[in-house]
This record gives sequence, structure tokens and C-alpha cells, in this order.
Amino acid sequence: MSADTTPSNQEANPPVDGKELIRFSKVTKRFGSNTVLDDLTFGVDSGKHVTLIGPSGSGKTTILRLLMTLLKPDEGTIRVNGDYLTHEERGGKLVPAGEKHIREVRKNIGMVFQQFNLFPNMKVLRNITEAPVTVLGLSKDEAESRARDLLELVGLTEHLDKYPSQLSGGQQQRVAIARALAMRPQVLLLDEVTSALDPELVAGVLDVLRDIARSTDITMLCVTHEMNFARDISDQVMMFDEGHIIETGSAEKIFGDPDHTRTREFLSAVL
Ligand code: ADP
Repeated sequence: MSADTTPSNQEANPPVDGKELIRFSKVTKRFGSNTVLDDLTFGVDSGKHVTLIGPSGSGKTTILRLLMTLLKPDEGTIRVNGDYLTHEERGGKLVPAGEKHIREVRKNIGMVFQQFNLFPNMKVLRNITEAPVTVLGLSKDEAESRARDLLELVGLTEHLDKYPSQLSGGQQQRVAIARALAMRPQVLLLDEVTSALDPELVAGVLDVLRDIARSTDITMLCVTHEMNFARDISDQVMMFDEGHIIETGSAEKIFGDPDHTRTREFLSAVL
């Protein structure tokens, strides 16, 4: 990232609303000449369940990948819990963030992908305990106790001793959800988590996510084509088109009475 994207030092200790967990400020992301996110600014309050909707290619997944630091913005800044994901303070100055800083901030963020991404050579229990032991430094006993509670939450207690290949896609995705939660992240990012599943397995995964949304105070950012699910769990819906948020509001507002023609067209095509 070039130096001119560094925020001014006036912004070094910005006042952050106590409730705000995520803040994108003037974020632009390009792939070659393709501007995928264009000067994007938005915030997400702690504990909220936010769904990103919009046509394919509108930049939704890019938002999640930026938050996971799988990508870096070309311009602008991203803060999680007040800490810059993109920058860190060194000697009173903000400089592009180093790996160590990024790893620290990222501990607050968990992600579940379309393609489960479980470790194929590890049994279910170990898939869930691995990162809490190696990254957070939990003892094996603590990590296993946490993993057992989570396996109960996702309804897979009896499968803890199996390998991922012995489970259905829906079960594997529920393990992936438990694995993300085992890190006790403040934010859970869900990237089209049911898209790769056979239709009959989708409901089980969505039910688990509904339970988590209801029973925990975790902040969720969710990209999904499951509009009924989005309507059920969302405190806020953001409608994307060509790298811009063209409309945002409550699920009732966006699904019931959207302001933009583009939102109406999109919803009538997918509902
Ligand atoms: P959505 O999630 O809304 O479908 P994405 O964020 O996945 O959209 O993609 C937005 C745009 O960025 C698309 O035009 C896509 O082709 C492009 N894109 C995404 N990832 C890459 C990449 N790694 N390299 C080049 N182009 C990419």
C-alpha cells in the first residue's frame, strides 16, 4: 500500500462510538482496472446481524475478504473494535500494518466459507481445538471442553471422532461454524455458507445459524442468497450494486418497501 493512503495523524486516535465494531472509511478495492469497491464508507454496531445482498459481482465477498485480511484495500482504512486493520501506530505515527498487528486484530474475526475448508487429516474434535490451542494458547483440556459445547450447539456431538470425509456437506459446514466460534471471535463472517450444499442440507445449517444469532451476542456479517434467512436474522440489510451500497435499512424496510428501483428489481428476481 502506498504511503499516501495512510490516514492523517489527526485520525490516529479517532473517537470510536463505543458500540461500533467495524468501520470501513473510504475503502476502494481494484483488481486491475476493475474497481470492485468504490470509496465505500459504512459501520457495523456490535452485536448486530448484517446481511449483504445484491447481484453477483457487486463486491459483497470482497468486503468479507478484506476483513479477513485475505485482501488489502487500495485506498481507505478498516477498523475493528477501534484498531486499524490496515495500519498500526509506530513511534506516534500510523504506518501500514505489519503481520503481527494484523494477526492480533484478526483474532476478533471468524469466517465460514462456501467450501467448508476443514482440515481433512484431522478428526472433527481436533479441527475445532487446533486453532484455540496453537493460536490462543488454550490447554488441550480447555479447548476440548469448549469444542464439546460447540458440537452440542451445532448438533454433532456424536460425530466428534469422525473425519470430515465421513460427514455430509451440511455436517461439515456445521463443524466449520463450530470451528470459527471456538476462537470466540467478536465477528462472524459468513460467505454464502449454504451455496455448495445439496438443497436438503441447507435448512439444517441455516437453523444452526438462526440459533447462534438468537442465543449469542456475536456480530454477524453475512453474504447470502437465502433471502428468507436474511429476512429472519438481519437487524440491517445492505444492498450492493457495482461496488456501492445503494440502500441500507432494516429487513422489514428493504424486503418490504425498498426505496430503490434496483433493489426492487433484484429482490423480485431472487424471491
Ligand atoms: P459478490 O460477492 O458480490 O458476488 P465479489 O466481491 O466476489 O462479488 O467480486 C466483485 C468483483 O471482483 C467481480 O467482478 C469479481 O470478478 C472480481 N474479483 C473478485 N476477486 C478477484 C480476484 N482475486 N481477482 C480478480 N478479480 C476479482
